[in-house]
Amino acid sequence: MRGVLLGVIWLILFPFSAGASHAAEHGVVILQYHHIGDDTPRVTSVTAAELEEHFQFLEDNDFTVVSLTEAQRLLESPDPMPNKAVAITFDDGWRNVYDNGIHIFKEFEFPFTIFINPKLMEETPHLYMSWEQLTELQSYGATIANHSNSHGHMTWRQQGESEQQWLARQRRDVVEAQQMLQKALPGEQPRQFAYPYGEFNPQLEAMLAEEGYIAFGQHSGPWGPATPTTQIPRFPASAQYADLKTLRTKLLSLPLPAVTTAPRNMVLEDGSKKVEVKVDVASSNDFDTSLLNCFYQGEQLKPQWRKLEHQLGDGWQLTLHLKNPPLGRSRVNCTVPSRSQQGRFYWHSVPLVRPDAEGRWPD
Ligand SMILES: [Zn+2]
Repeated sequence: MRGVLLGVIWLILFPFSAGASHAAEHGVVILQYHHIGDDTPRVTSVTAAELEEHFQFLEDNDFTVVSLTEAQRLLESPDPMPNKAVAITFDDGWRNVYDNGIHIFKEFEFPFTIFINPKLMEETPHLYMSWEQLTELQSYGATIANHSNSHGHMTWRQQGESEQQWLARQRRDVVEAQQMLQKALPGEQPRQFAYPYGEFNPQLEAMLAEEGYIAFGQHSGPWGPATPTTQIPRFPASAQYADLKTLRTKLLSLPLPAVTTAPRNMVLEDGSKKVEVKVDVASSNDFDTSLLNCFYQGEQLKPQWRKLEHQLGDGWQLTLHLKNPPLGRSRVNCTVPSRSQQGRFYWHSVPLVRPDAEGRWPD
């Protein structure tokens, strides 16, 4: 099974098997927002003025804004991906997205996606958009998609719950959310899922794939042809990430043709003091692997490289040793400059979460 899986990974990384590619590989950069406002938690907010500035920047600088459905179609088809393709997403369906964003959505007419929690939405209507408001936003470019019904930490098991019971509970939470949004909104809603807090594990990925979903996390990097469709990254664009001086580099980033092979599960063992991260990177003439930099918790890491030879093509495996991962979520970011496109970087990110002794961590 593992051999088959590695063969599949190899085919994704080296689809033409004839060796390294020459041209820059394009992907789709996905922006992730939550609140629009100046009286909401800053850490997950942009002001309306900041959002408008972002949208204006995309319009003025020849970005192609695509829906997630169109992004997937382009990545899977032989048609060329437009240079500088971007998708826009909002998590949770806060009411302020309607109140403070509608004039911006009307002005720019960009496609965008809102990931909602239908049950929470119906239970606490003063916080969230109504079905009527969501339907109205659909006419200004919105796609409404699934963020689970209960917005829990999906990997957490309840006390006394077996693995089977846990997975069945998570499946119900996703399927019932989809049934609710399908019933309340006109037309067919796509099977696109955003993990609450960007947390997932291999069992959840397999369950979502079985149910026909593609799924989005909160680690950074563009969505490229090598990205597993149940681990699609998005760049946070709120708070300190809203500054266009730094967001610009992310908007111009290119997908590193890479797959994380270790750890297999982003949720680390309790008490992990050392973590070994392994990423398989396809060879390319557009970047020099020796210039690849990885960062973790503000520190630069020194990758170890090992040449990979496979009957289907060549590549490199990089190994990183992390010490003392913090409690809760963290991520490793690796970048390497493009040779052909000045000022642009290939980007790959590895999400991690370290639990406490009870297997829990803060939101
Ligand atoms: Zn959320």
